[in-house]
Amino acid sequence: MAEIDQKLDTVLVHAGRQPGDFHGFVNPPVVHASTVLFPSVEAMAPGAQKYSYGRRGTPTTEALEEAIAAIEGAAGAKLATSGLNAISLACLSCLRAGDHFLVADTVYGPTRHFCDTILPRYGIEIEYFEPWAAEGIRKRFKANTKAVFLEAPGSLTFEMQDVPAIAAAAREIGAFVLMDNTWATPVFFQPLAHGVDLSIQAGTKYIVGHSDVMIGTVAASARAWPGLLEMHGNLGLHVGPDDVYLALRGLRTMSVRLERHMRNALEVANWLAEQSCVAAIRYPALPQDPGHSLWKRDFKGACGLFAFDFTPDVTEQQAITFLNSLKLFGLGYSWGGFESLAIPVKLKGLRTAGTPVPLSQSVRLHIGLEDTRDLIADLAQAMAAMKA
Ligand SMILES: *Cc1c(COP(=O)(O)O)cnc(C)c1O
Repeated sequence: MAEIDQKLDTVLVHAGRQPGDFHGFVNPPVVHASTVLFPSVEAMAPGAQKYSYGRRGTPTTEALEEAIAAIEGAAGAKLATSGLNAISLACLSCLRAGDHFLVADTVYGPTRHFCDTILPRYGIEIEYFEPWAAEGIRKRFKANTKAVFLEAPGSLTFEMQDVPAIAAAAREIGAFVLMDNTWATPVFFQPLAHGVDLSIQAGTKYIVGHSDVMIGTVAASARAWPGLLEMHGNLGLHVGPDDVYLALRGLRTMSVRLERHMRNALEVANWLAEQSCVAAIRYPALPQDPGHSLWKRDFKGACGLFAFDFTPDVTEQQAITFLNSLKLFGLGYSWGGFESLAIPVKLKGLRTAGTPVPLSQSVRLHIGLEDTRDLIADLAQAMAAMKA
């Protein structure tokens, strides 16, 4: 296990590795397993042997869980089969029938869909709140408010939230605080150090970093850990060892990749801000962004994901022409890999608590690790095609 006083970049390199246990090899073995053999009936007693069954954990899954727990400063961490599965796992780990669940209006669309379609079946009441609520969240508290779900910045529209203020208010009533921290990753924001109980990562994005694996992680505070461990075991969640291994490999370089994603994204965002057809950039790292002061106060950096709004004269068809004309930017969902991507922002049905939505065509970009001169040239030629 990593020492508490190590700096994050050191923890990223060393956490979850025990070369001495594996003949000195730097990386843990990829253990493909269901059955684990016991030397005797006595050794089959619960807890008598470290590993008991593939689903319950292997040296491979344990390595990634230990690394995530160390990086997040958590009591423990569990793996899920995707980011969305990490979200559903975290929700189920702390909610039960009769609970009231407050969810930020700007959460990832499939999170909202899970909250609207699945949780009510089990008697959980969902209420969406305005992301700028801060201490004002208190007016939404009810006697049965059990948990609050945050995501900062918000999906597609990038509004910041005052995480410490909302978390402190929630703690006054003993409510659990869940946060989807996929955008910042624990490299740029540490949820548990800011009052969050369940820190969620779509590992699919920057942990994996190469667009080739789906995985999720949930890291828990001491009070949320027993519930997470129990729900994970009861649901029977298990991630295949090759995917776990690739996530662990990605984790080692996450910090250096993020540094470059941020530098590239700032260069591209600053270029976009000067274009006459661009009305606004949605990226809290920019001083002109409404969430900049919160971002600067709480976050250590920004990833490669942001959006921009065209000026109102740009039609939907023109925005489509712009996207279709891109050559280096791929059109595709997900993000966090080494490559640049673009999608049109569509918010139909995704905002119900009064959060302002873009009034013109909006595009989300993921800025990859390419040379920004080439990325800017691609955006410029697509804008020219759009105007032609
Ligand atoms: C992509 C994403 C998820 C879901 O991750 P998957 O691995 O695709 O299920 C969750 N939250 C955010 C903010 C995301 O962008």
